[in-house]
Amino acid sequence: MLKYAIIAILSVLGLLPDPPAMAQSAGTYAITNVTVVPMDRERHLPDQTVVVRDGRIAAMGPAASTPVPDGATRIEGRGRYLMPGLAEMHAHVPPQADQAQWTEDVLFLYAANGITFARSMLGAPHHLALRERAARGEIVSPRIYTSGPSLNGNSVATPADGRRMVAEQKAAGYDFLKIHPGLDRARYDAIAEAARTAGIPFGGHVPVDVGLARALEVRQATVDHLDDFVTALLPEGAAPAGPGGFFGIYHAGAVDAARIPALAQRIRAAGVWNVPTESLIHHVLLASPTTEELLARPETAYVPPPMRAQWVQARNSQQAQPAYDAATAQRFTELRGRVIRALHDAGAGLLLGSDAPQIFQVPGFSIHHELRVLVAAGLTPYQALATGTRNVAVFLGEEGQAGTVAAGQRADLILLEADPLADVANVRRRAGVMVNGRWLAEAQIRARLAEIAARYRS
Ligand SMILES: [Zn+2]
Repeated sequence: MLKYAIIAILSVLGLLPDPPAMAQSAGTYAITNVTVVPMDRERHLPDQTVVVRDGRIAAMGPAASTPVPDGATRIEGRGRYLMPGLAEMHAHVPPQADQAQWTEDVLFLYAANGITFARSMLGAPHHLALRERAARGEIVSPRIYTSGPSLNGNSVATPADGRRMVAEQKAAGYDFLKIHPGLDRARYDAIAEAARTAGIPFGGHVPVDVGLARALEVRQATVDHLDDFVTALLPEGAAPAGPGGFFGIYHAGAVDAARIPALAQRIRAAGVWNVPTESLIHHVLLASPTTEELLARPETAYVPPPMRAQWVQARNSQQAQPAYDAATAQRFTELRGRVIRALHDAGAGLLLGSDAPQIFQVPGFSIHHELRVLVAAGLTPYQALATGTRNVAVFLGEEGQAGTVAAGQRADLILLEADPLADVANVRRRAGVMVNGRWLAEAQIRARLAEIAARYRS
């Protein structure tokens, strides 16, 4: 009796390993007779057998000539499509150390949606241990690549402070540094210089006092949310008038759109990558879908009711601003769509990220919305999927290791019932996900999703 009480307590605290059904370790699998969408270029490889062993793709070739190893778990691939796992390049892992259950739920929601790599944008000390637990397969989670705690106008008091924090975060083992608003030029420059010396990338926002031009000069690794693009596109010499609102929405009407291609070229030349998080902008600012329609989406069931309430409040407060109207929001997202398309056309780096779990961005599920809006901006399904697969490998310097489906690559894969190159919506039609060499069949995924929904029933 006591034993069960202890197990129940540990389980509530999130201190137990996954239940046995989910605790399948990385083993040997063969996905047979599958159409591979390798994402090295736009093509299909029909009737392949893909052998996975200990977290890597051990072999891949025509089914007729690729043997299934003895003892391998067979996964039926006939009529199905196998693509690389996706990255969420603007992910959040709950920063609070005392929210173990919600944290594991968030990581599962990512993995359940085929996200096998999460660039975590607001690091906390306990995330370093979480990163190792994920790598060892102790939790169902994407591979975690984490920033340190936020560098912003409040957390960094002086340039010397900035230099000290860069050195500390590098020494602690964080993967990169997160830039937030509020840094003046002196503190930002000190951080950029220290980061270059320490060999740690920095990315995120573009502080107002810094500006996009300076961020390009010092080669900020990523500009997220298309931050400061509106200001950078104002006519030469024009000063922004009045408050800009959410990512510059209220200055967007003054933009000289003819400047977009040249700006995109400068970004490409600087080698700076872009994580638009465009579905976040849509979900916060656009009048349609309505708040009620967003709340009615089935995926909303997977987040705690207080978080849903915060989302409603945050969206309402943006749309209640005196300068807000639906047509302005519509024009703003159209402008951003043109910028995304121009970045793509210029060959500037685009990465897939949706800023979950910010406002109406349900972890994992929001990546499907991000793919949809990238296609709406003018990318093909292949180009949109590349932002979350092969582009990520290029960004990380992991070509040949991750981001495509080929022998020798990490076994981070999504098995689909329909062709993702025909329609990105088909990425929702999962048969299962292979995350870090561990197979999650769709039935297992649905069972655990149901548990999560039950936990957060309002
Ligand atoms: Zn964020």
